[in-house]
Amino acid sequence: MNDCIFCKISKGELPAKLVYEDPELFAFEDIAPQAPTHILICSRKHMVNLADSKEEDGALFGRALLLASRLAAKRKLTSGYRVVVNNGRGAGQTVFHLHFHLLGGRDFRWPPG
Ligand code: 5GP
Ligand code: ZN
Repeated sequence: MNDCIFCKISKGELPAKLVYEDPELFAFEDIAPQAPTHILICSRKHMVNLADSKEEDGALFGRALLLASRLAAKRKLTSGYRVVVNNGRGAGQTVFHLHFHLLGGRDFRWPPG
């Protein structure tokens, strides 16, 4: 996956404002934030999206959600926050490397657009 921008960020080949990293996951500030806090939580392993997942990825997804909760607490998002996966072009996915958006610091509407 030579041309995947999130794989490049994972390997340090593209700059990003990293806020967390471990051998399985890394998280960084979105380049075009849609809320005062907008962090992308990514797997190191290249997966296109949730539709590309396997049984063995369950623990990784669980860890990604736990990390979202930890980062939200660190950012003091006490009034609420949103964790979003845009799965596929029709749902607004534009970067085809699985990532969880953590958004907070403002009010959100439901249903999402
Ligand atoms: P998607 O639309 O696939 O759910 O989310 C992709 C996100 O990646 C968007 O919110 C977009 O602003 C962000 N993004 C795209 N390219 C870059 C980049 O090079 N660096 C960073 N930090 N974020 C990016
Ligand atoms: Zn990738």
